[in-house]
Amino acid sequence: MSSKKTKPAVKKPVAKKSALAPKSTPVADKDKTQVKQNKTISLLRGMKDFLPREEQYWLAVNHAAESASKAYGYRYMATPILEDASLFIRGVGRGTDIVEKEMYIFEDAEGKRIALRPETTASVARAYIEHGMHAVPQPVKVWNVGPIFRHDRPQAGRYRQFHQLNVDSLGERDAVVDAELIALAYNVMRDLGINTRVSVNSIGSAEDRERYLVELTGYFRTKRHALSEESKKRLLKNPLRILDSKEPEDQEVVAEAPKIIDWLSDESRKYFMRVLEYLDEMEIPYLPDPMLVRGLDYYCDTVFEFFVDEEVPENGKPLALGGGGRYDGLVEQLGGRPTPAAGFGLGIERIITAMRKQKEGQLPTSETEGSVSPLFFAHLGEQSRRRALKLIEQMRRDGVLVNHALAKGSLKAQLEIANRLNSTHAIILGQKEIQDGTVIIRDMASGIQEIIDEKQVSTHAKKILQGKA
Ligand code: AMP
Repeated sequence: MSSKKTKPAVKKPVAKKSALAPKSTPVADKDKTQVKQNKTISLLRGMKDFLPREEQYWLAVNHAAESASKAYGYRYMATPILEDASLFIRGVGRGTDIVEKEMYIFEDAEGKRIALRPETTASVARAYIEHGMHAVPQPVKVWNVGPIFRHDRPQAGRYRQFHQLNVDSLGERDAVVDAELIALAYNVMRDLGINTRVSVNSIGSAEDRERYLVELTGYFRTKRHALSEESKKRLLKNPLRILDSKEPEDQEVVAEAPKIIDWLSDESRKYFMRVLEYLDEMEIPYLPDPMLVRGLDYYCDTVFEFFVDEEVPENGKPLALGGGGRYDGLVEQLGGRPTPAAGFGLGIERIITAMRKQKEGQLPTSETEGSVSPLFFAHLGEQSRRRALKLIEQMRRDGVLVNHALAKGSLKAQLEIANRLNSTHAIILGQKEIQDGTVIIRDMASGIQEIIDEKQVSTHAKKILQGKA
């Protein structure tokens, strides 16, 4: 083994206080694993397995994301999960929580500092520059669903690996782009049965923010004694973030703080008004929220967040389903040409939680959630098992999905499974049917049976599925 390979793969985290410093080398970890071979290995803290019973939600979200993105003219683009760590340090900003405290960062075998992406906007901007996308017709409209990593304190709705639908439009500065992005996100969630409330605000241009920050910092300094410990730290590093605070003790001070909307230039104010007018035009319900700033350095003008409508948590603020905004300076900041852009990210896990809550009480059991079809194919004996396998395969090719339990021997055991899967019809194949070239179709509710030619099984099954048989 080369000496290089024995070096720690995880070291020198960017943040001084990062929790990611290794306690042992991977080699030592490997040894430990060998010693404790009999111990089970569990999921890492803050991670989540998507289980088969959640399949329908996962697929529904992905389907809604794809159809809405296509409907609005966005095209699929995927960037890698691993990026040069400096992309996020430069792009997202050193003072932001996700870079300073939450980024998974390690040194690879060549000594390069690599980050597991804590967001995708900087990656999209990097790809735009790297592939010379300024030269193709603008705007470049892209979407993607993929994993994001943040070493945050795990709690309800907060994972260390989660997934986002990200949608970005680069190359155009027009209020219609911002409004359309909000409408797209709103429609994805509406298609999934979630009523959302959209909070919108404008944080103006960099110059507007500079003037506003002087005022805001002055105000918070006079109230420093009343602020939470976290906000006292933010006062030094990024006072805007205090407006985002979820600490109960900060709420009163925040409510009285100067509002950025009063510090906007004429251009930014008009731009914001146009965004709101377009939202009215598209009948997207929104609430202006003068305290909404979002945490990342690259945002300017329009910022927005989505919440489940009427969800009022017991304490603090509700968790957002997603958020986004305009980031006109980012591409240039990363070395590209000046390129206006805007986008959003929706949290898939939180959307699924909202879908489950909405369906509460009428949720099927985990078994029925796994069912692929209301049809069940049952067999009697070894010879019919083979024939059943052939017929099931034929049905699949004909586009008819059917459940089975071919590994089970007894018909009783098979029909019990058919019941558990809420099957409406069983297709039964025994010795006699094989000889006759037929199958039995049993209506599970009434027990009424019908014998049909096995060549007709797909056609008949399709009629059952269409409710015509
Ligand atoms: P952000 O870029 O932080 O505004 O995140 C956009 C969306 O991603 C949020 O509104 C959440 O829905 C989701 N999200 C952010 N952080 C997490 C996390 N730690 N766990 C699960 N979802 C998250």
